[in-house]
Amino acid sequence: MPNAPFKKPGKKKSFYFRARKKFCPFCTDRSESIDYKETGRLRRFVSDKGKILPRRATGVCAKHQRALAAAIKRARAVALLAFVNR
Ligand SMILES: [Zn+2]
Repeated sequence: MPNAPFKKPGKKKSFYFRARKKFCPFCTDRSESIDYKETGRLRRFVSDKGKILPRRATGVCAKHQRALAAAIKRARAVALLAFVNR
């Protein structure tokens, strides 16, 4: 197609990740602590397959994502969370 207008790969809104105001739940609420023993809270940041969800999906800030990942890994090590859900 020689005369077809070339479309630049611009930034398009993703179909999979809705454009929503994201906020870090740990930054907004100071009482929310990241504790490896609180599996109910950690489970929100883990996919149904047991994987740690990426920051872009949860909206957690970089600082808390690191703490969260460490807490989830710790929880796995002491068998509070599953490594993989099949
Ligand atoms: Zn945060």
